[in-house]
Amino acid sequence: MPRIEISLSHIRDNARRLSQLYAQKSISLMGVSKAVLGEPSIAEAMIQGGVSFIADSRIENIEKMRKAGLSTQFVLLRTPISKAESVVQNVDISLNTEIETVKKLSFFAKTLNKNHKVILMVELGDLREGILPGDLPDFIRTTLSLSHIDIAGIGCNLACYGGVEPDSKNMQELSVLAAGINKEFNMKFDIISGGNSANYKWYKSAQNVGKINNLRLGESILLGCETLSRQAIPSLHTGAFQLFAEVIESKKKPSIPYGTIGQDAFGNINGFQDHGDHQRAIIALGRQDVQVSGLKSNNNLEILGSSSDHTILNCENNKLQVGDEVSFNLDYGALLSAMTSPFISKLFIDSNDNAAT
Ligand SMILES: *Cc1c(COP(=O)(O)O)cnc(C)c1O
Repeated sequence: MPRIEISLSHIRDNARRLSQLYAQKSISLMGVSKAVLGEPSIAEAMIQGGVSFIADSRIENIEKMRKAGLSTQFVLLRTPISKAESVVQNVDISLNTEIETVKKLSFFAKTLNKNHKVILMVELGDLREGILPGDLPDFIRTTLSLSHIDIAGIGCNLACYGGVEPDSKNMQELSVLAAGINKEFNMKFDIISGGNSANYKWYKSAQNVGKINNLRLGESILLGCETLSRQAIPSLHTGAFQLFAEVIESKKKPSIPYGTIGQDAFGNINGFQDHGDHQRAIIALGRQDVQVSGLKSNNNLEILGSSSDHTILNCENNKLQVGDEVSFNLDYGALLSAMTSPFISKLFIDSNDNAAT
């Protein structure tokens, strides 16, 4: 206690439905495993659902999945120059934006007598990672001159830092860039990776996806939603992850604190509204376990507040007793924090073994 229950069959269904949806316009998928710390059985469920690659931002997660014996192509989403050797050893394709890093990958690839593939990420306005479009030809030229490095393609990432929506304009810009480079250097890209779970709306409205032939999806597979407005995607499961915690106190108490009010445990001074006495429950779950603001009670219990180890619920309409369990659905931030917490046990409620259906 507390624990997160994970339905592998829901994750597998989501991966399968998304693979089928995006395949209608010849787009392959990378299943992104970083929010679940590269949990091998979850990555396996994604593979069974039909994703062609597993992508993660942490080399440690990819090492873990490799050790677990997963057989797929591994993609590293974020490439630290200091880990170039392990990247060449463990990863098939890495996303890159700095020529120094690609040179270092080339050095270790040569030492290890391997070829390493790179996807070059292009800046299209979101202002996280990306080579400026005007710098791309020089970057390609230098990369082509390096031994043991193959350019698998280009990509872009939107809706992460700047919240910039993938739309027909920036997606077309990526297609046009790809076509220009392919012509100039007389080459062909295998992968033109247009984005992440935020690309759903663009995809649904696009008559023509241009040269985009890949997306990297984490949240859509895990939580069943797109990420521009966090709408559920039709026919996907939105409750593959459920968080359970135990009630450790349940009492009728006033709804406003009394005494002289100063800062709370996190340095805030809070305002409270008086609703009179009401039934309140405390659960053994706090901010050291999970981003409490990303939880939604399955029984419509209002979350009144939380500290490091306690979360306080209004249970006026749903009387809880000490020892009862309450459960929550999680948003992406809550999922990320809960999966990272050493205090939350992870329980798989179905297995990958009977995945034939
Ligand atoms: C995290 C990440 C993704 C996946 O994002 P979702 O919103 O979970 O689909 C895709 N690409 C890159 C580069 C990422 O870092």
